[in-house]
Amino acid sequence: MKALVYEGPGKKSWTDVPDPVILNPTDAIVELVTTTICGTDLHILKGDVPTVQTGRILGHEGVGFIKEIGASVKNFKVGDRVLISCIKSCGSCKNCQQGLYSHCLGDEGGSGMGWILGHLIDGTQAEFVRIPYADTSLHKLSPSVSDEQAVMLSDILPTGFEMGIQYGQVKPGDVVAVIGAGPVGLGAIMTASLHGAAKVIAIDLDTNRLEKSRELGATDVVVSGQPQWKEQVLALTDGAGVDVAIEAVGVPDTFTMATEIVRPGGHVANVGVHGKSVPLHLEQLWIHNVFISMGLVNTNTTPMLLKLVESKKIPADKLVTHRFNFKQFLEAYDTFGRAAETKALKVVISNK
Ligand code: NAD
Ligand code: ZN
Repeated sequence: MKALVYEGPGKKSWTDVPDPVILNPTDAIVELVTTTICGTDLHILKGDVPTVQTGRILGHEGVGFIKEIGASVKNFKVGDRVLISCIKSCGSCKNCQQGLYSHCLGDEGGSGMGWILGHLIDGTQAEFVRIPYADTSLHKLSPSVSDEQAVMLSDILPTGFEMGIQYGQVKPGDVVAVIGAGPVGLGAIMTASLHGAAKVIAIDLDTNRLEKSRELGATDVVVSGQPQWKEQVLALTDGAGVDVAIEAVGVPDTFTMATEIVRPGGHVANVGVHGKSVPLHLEQLWIHNVFISMGLVNTNTTPMLLKLVESKKIPADKLVTHRFNFKQFLEAYDTFGRAAETKALKVVISNK
């Protein structure tokens, strides 16, 4: 089969590799129909994720059809159309029993963590992929959900909702600020109303992304990087700050920004993945009674989000800006890698 292979820092190829096979009775082999590229794949390609070995097939998002199942798979049969979750879950370890799938102890990949696809085992940017713990790591799709809608639920929508809205403990009437209106920040913006947010303020440097934020549920937008950005945000509150500040970028400055706009007793929800250490001014923050949360997405809300996409309450496909086929995989990476110029949000790549 063909697959997108990581060849070491800065290098990748769309090349011939052996087809995956069932290794454990709980596995399924899925034939991909649609996949996409995540900012994390770009981090891996830069060499920022040293746990990814040379030769690894990338990708942790996808939709496809079951081609083969292991002897103990009960919930799926050959031919079923499924959504692949970016986090695997064995369903039975003590962390999975609490819904903390991000820390699934099932020993696939040998890491005791949930994100293994396109990381510790071969991923979804391929014609076929082996999915461990298929019964609890795949979701059956109804024909009323399109491939493009579904693939937004592999990672970005659950991440924005769980790590932003849920961990930020957004409640009815809250003013929520989302710093970073990339696919993940937009996932938070699109789901803030599920918890009753009264105002959703999108903050980004990129005016194109701010425009998109308005389409997807932001009530207000603020261009950051200008001197008055903070005053503009505070003017949208009662003056004391936002109830919840969500950081969806992953750099020290934007985390600091979140702590500067949150009200006393408010929440800072860090969603971004930080590549270097981030200053935390406890000497100033302690007296503001601020709550801070962070984490790796669990994807335990995927079935719920899938129902809302199905009932057209969440227009997931509006995140898709570019479409490619498998033969254009490298072109898709190029477009996604130059997002500021190409205005790319999510690029979908389909096996057509
Ligand atoms: P992205 O790079 O597409 O979007 C980031 C956005 O932040 C861009 O629109 C950019 O213009 C904006 N930005 C940059 N600097 C800014 C500043 N100073 N002020 C305001 N905006 C600024 O990324 P994404 O795919 O949306 O992902 C966002 C973050 O979430 C990344 O760090 C990613 O690694 C992380 N992530 C976390 C999890 C998790 O489980 N916690 C899962 C997936 C992704
Ligand atoms: Zn588990």
